Amino acid sequence: MFSREKQQPSTLSIRPENWGMIEELAKELGATTACSRPVADMHWRPHHEHVGQTGLAIRPNLYIAIGISGAIQHLAGVSGSKTIVVINTDKEAPFFKSADYGVIGDAFTIVPKLIEAVKKFKANHN
Ligand SMILES: Cc1cc2nc3c(=O)[nH]c(=O)nc-3n(C[C@H](O)[C@H](O)[C@H](O)COP(=O)(O)OP(=O)(O)OC[C@H]3O[C@@H](n4cnc5c(N)ncnc54)[C@H](O)[C@@H]3O)c2cc1C
Repeated sequence: MFSREKQQPSTLSIRPENWGMIEELAKELGATTACSRPVADMHWRPHHEHVGQTGLAIRPNLYIAIGISGAIQHLAGVSGSKTIVVINTDKEAPFFKSADYGVIGDAFTIVPKLIEAVKKFKANHN
């Protein structure tokens, strides 16, 4: 659990030093990264990456929400996504209700496995 500002309780755990795995997954998928507003508010990522009611509205073919709870203000920016995959340790996270596919688990376990799986798939299909 981490909160840089006391007034902003948060369960965010994918801190700047962990962002490399997110970028690596995006690179392997030919995708780009985005973030929730608290992540941008804490200056972990630039504000031009934050999606939602007060940020970008995106409509990708695939949106992978990694450690994002699924607040209505966030969903406002991603509901046009064709396929939504949610990875969250909390099985009660609201985002699962909007997900096409959900993985209940720790991003620090799941994401490296996903990167390896994508690399393997690409190696076998080149
Ligand atoms: C007027 C207004 C406008 C807003 N506009 C926006 C907006 O445009 N965009 C936006 O995003 N928010 C916006 N918000 C904020 C919004 O209400 C939420 O607070 C915010 O979206 C929550 O961000 P989060 O999901 O990253 O963090 P949290 O709600 O703290 O959720 C973190 C999630 O990560 C999970 N988690 C933690 N560690 C791991 C791990 N290791 N592996 C897997 N899962 C993990 C937790 O279970 C939790 O579900 C707005 C709020 C207001 C009041």
